[in-house]
Amino acid sequence: MTSQTLERIASCVAGYDPNALPVAQAQEFIARLVPRVTAIESIALRSALGRVLARDIVSVIDVPAHDNSAMDGYALRGADLQAGADTVLRIAGTGFAGQNFSGDVPAGHCVRIMTGAVMPPGLDTVVPQEFTRTEADAVRIPANVVRSGDNRRLKGEDLARGSSALRAGRLLRPADLGLLASLGQAEVPVLRKLRVAFFSTGDELRSIGEPLDIGCVYDSNRYTIWGMLQRLGCEVIDLGVVRDDPAALRAAFSEAAASADAVITSGGVSVGEADHTKKIMAELGDVLFWRIAMRPGRPMAIGRINNAILFGLPGNPVAVMVTFYAFVRDALRTMSGMSETTQPLLRAACTTPLRKKPGRTEYQRGIVARSADGRWQVAITGSQGSGILSSMSAANALLVLHQEQGNIDAGDEIDVIPFDGLV
Ligand code: AMP
Ligand code: MG
Repeated sequence: MTSQTLERIASCVAGYDPNALPVAQAQEFIARLVPRVTAIESIALRSALGRVLARDIVSVIDVPAHDNSAMDGYALRGADLQAGADTVLRIAGTGFAGQNFSGDVPAGHCVRIMTGAVMPPGLDTVVPQEFTRTEADAVRIPANVVRSGDNRRLKGEDLARGSSALRAGRLLRPADLGLLASLGQAEVPVLRKLRVAFFSTGDELRSIGEPLDIGCVYDSNRYTIWGMLQRLGCEVIDLGVVRDDPAALRAAFSEAAASADAVITSGGVSVGEADHTKKIMAELGDVLFWRIAMRPGRPMAIGRINNAILFGLPGNPVAVMVTFYAFVRDALRTMSGMSETTQPLLRAACTTPLRKKPGRTEYQRGIVARSADGRWQVAITGSQGSGILSSMSAANALLVLHQEQGNIDAGDEIDVIPFDGLV
């Protein structure tokens, strides 16, 4: 898709209308536009948490390496169990995890065994201790408490030697670190981190520490964007606030595009806005200006400046976060090389009626909680204006009212994106 202009590619999308683009169409277009990181680095296992696996990992050993006991109890030959009657076996010795029982086990004998201890040769069954009674140097096992083969973990049942343990493109989570550790792997091949540069535009913006002149606001977007990029595991390049001045904007875009895989800006993309941001974007790159059928966050620019992908987000503090979650999150995950980008949705009953116009996607800020009857329910957090960051801060989820949806009645189940998941 690199040889054609974006305008041309977009014009091939059925019903493409840059002034009323459905969220799903915009997402699809972006997914086709973004390239993936390919450079690989090898890093220590613990450093690989949150990184993207670069190659398939094949198990070089069997995990576990031996048949072993799943319980504290007595290891025996299943064939020795009496049908419908007690079985009495003499105890030949004891096996601990890490200290195997190495003697012979004569017929009619068992071995006292602990969880994780290697099964002595020939023994295939473990009866848990709590089902047994010891009698001098023997153990009595009542009828029907265990079947042949029970409570034994088989060699290679977790990971068989030569089998695929993890696939390239996986975002490495705590369980994956454990899995790699169980293979004895000290170093992990991961894709290099995605580099993302960002800056804010607007003459009214002040950075923390500067006096707040009349009509000015502190630049909050740089902090929300920074936070979201950190959570995505990107390498973050903060280029500060850029004044609405052609030379300053040109320099900022050029520096950003030269140093990063993706460039995120906020502000200056509104329709009819009297500023230079859009002009400089169009001058330096191949950029589309969209009005997306969504609320909040209608205006957005998407494009390429040299090899960097540009996301020109709206300036309003909530609009910037919602457009990030709707478009940039998945795009950056794809660019980072992750094979899995979909966000789990929850269905929750809306506690109040909501007005909703069909023909656009609306994202509302809400608090999702369990109701007394155990169902998930969601309540909006108050004023939903696109500049009201406090209602975003109070929220723990976004309500997604889809393009075709109309008004919502109290009690209707709707889709909700929770902000937090398992670590
Ligand atoms: P714009 O998209 O540039 O028209 O900005 C829309 C609104 O968002 C205006 O009220 C801006 O002052 C505000 N805004 C833009 N950028 C930021 C920012 N970085 N931090 C806080 N507010 C912003
Ligand atoms: Mg502005």
